[in-house]
Amino acid sequence: RVAVVGAGITGLTSTKCCLDEGLEPTCFEQSKDIGGLWRYTEHIEASRPSLYPSVVSNTSKEMSAFPYPEDFPVFLPNARLLEYLRRYTEHFGLQKHIKFGTTVVSIRKRPDFATTGQWDVVTEADGKQTSHIFDAVMVCTGNFHEPSLPLHAFPGIEKFQGQYFHSRQYKHADVFQGKRVLVVGMGNSGVDIAVEASRVATKVTICTRRGAWVISRVFDHGYPWDMVFNTRLMNLIRNILPGPLSRGLVNYRVNQWFKHENYGLQPEKSPQMREPVLNDDLPSYILTGRITIKPGVKEFKENSVVFHNCPEEEPIDIVVFCTGYNVSFPFLEETDVKVENKHASLYKYIFPTHLQRPTLAILGLIKPLGAIMPVTEMQARWVTRVFKGLCRLPPQSVMEKEVNEKKKNRVRWFGLSYDEVLKVDCLVYMDMLASFIGAKPSVPGLLCTDPRLALSVFFGPCSPYQYRLGGPGRWEGARQAILTQWDRTLKPTRTRVPARSSSS
Ligand code: NAP
Repeated sequence: RVAVVGAGITGLTSTKCCLDEGLEPTCFEQSKDIGGLWRYTEHIEASRPSLYPSVVSNTSKEMSAFPYPEDFPVFLPNARLLEYLRRYTEHFGLQKHIKFGTTVVSIRKRPDFATTGQWDVVTEADGKQTSHIFDAVMVCTGNFHEPSLPLHAFPGIEKFQGQYFHSRQYKHADVFQGKRVLVVGMGNSGVDIAVEASRVATKVTICTRRGAWVISRVFDHGYPWDMVFNTRLMNLIRNILPGPLSRGLVNYRVNQWFKHENYGLQPEKSPQMREPVLNDDLPSYILTGRITIKPGVKEFKENSVVFHNCPEEEPIDIVVFCTGYNVSFPFLEETDVKVENKHASLYKYIFPTHLQRPTLAILGLIKPLGAIMPVTEMQARWVTRVFKGLCRLPPQSVMEKEVNEKKKNRVRWFGLSYDEVLKVDCLVYMDMLASFIGAKPSVPGLLCTDPRLALSVFFGPCSPYQYRLGGPGRWEGARQAILTQWDRTLKPTRTRVPARSSSS
């Protein structure tokens, strides 16, 4: 019996993987519905993530293991993504395994944990607490429910007389009507909100300490960015090159759209890369004067703000702190999972290293440079096999050594290095987990048996069907899904085919 905490993307994929492995999942969801982060509500609910209604996914639809309907757009607005999750839930019969309106209050090792690996799980529903015993636990609560609002890092904020709030609080742009707006932080939330605000505000400024690469969803020749970026060929090139060359290649590619230096966006020189910002509008909004980019905040005054290295004060009415999120697991003991500096020390980002039995897994606490759903699904495929004893973890000392090494987040000699421990190259991580369960595709092997497929696997997008070609969880439709992925990608955009087009 496995307890799954949360019915968002990760909880749903985990519940499905439990069923695939013949385990008995019970998924506890504190709200009344599935979808987690991707279920938009107008009202902000305590300890739940909160979206603004205009959020569109940053990764394209082909990057998930259960094909999306062909007519869905390539990048999904949140409502379509939720619709997909509903279809996924129904298709795999997950609904009956989910207990809605049930909050997990505590998860504690049972006294005989060393021999049984079991957990006492206390839940609360309608004000009534219930205790359960589970053989294993999958924590799938995500990391977007606790805003990080480091006001201490902004001198003078207590004097500021305008309005300020965290991006989690943001829903609609009308709050910015006729106002002078400052957006702090250049992550995806910051840029999305600034773009929306600039349509109604008098003036919008984004301040960023480090700058960022901004890329468009629309990549080379109009193809979705991740289907071009996350291929085995591109991954090989990125990872065999020495670090400076690899970074140089990225710099060259991202500056092809527009020269970041000219737009005040060029990231600070660093051997470690931050997550790129995906936004199709920002450069043109800077070019048309709707948005201005400034360095980090030096100080707030009563009605204005002073930026580093800028002598003039800028009058501001509203500040939106788009400063990200903290990670927390209030129902776990710190001795089981310790969170420090927005990450936890987990083997392969999943397993605590010091438990006598590997029956607790944290899923989704990772920031892949690509779609999250296939990554969490792959995590769940490995985790469920570890729970069943079909895959083994290495000795504690080996896991600890690896985790401690990772914590140092050193710059790698080859390939790209990221600025946060949680950031990973999607394909490398997926291949590693797939190899643990025997589902990693072999390009040389395929070349001998199915050359056409081999070429698609190597040169084409690394969509998750690649990990369904063999091994446990093999899917009959995987080959066909790989060979037809471009057709599905282009279907929703090719809505007018000229009479004499070759593909008509
Ligand atoms: P984030 O990516 O964590 O960015 C937070 C930013 O806040 C930092 O990059 C930093 O920007 C700034 N910041 C943090 N601490 C600060 C401090 N002490 N002082 C000044 N500035 C500080 O947060 P987010 O934008 O909310 O995004 C969270 C996650 O959701 C990301 O993985 C993102 O990709 C995802 N997301 C996705 C979508 C989508 O799919 N459409 C939309 C929104 C968010 P500077 O270094 O520039 O100052």
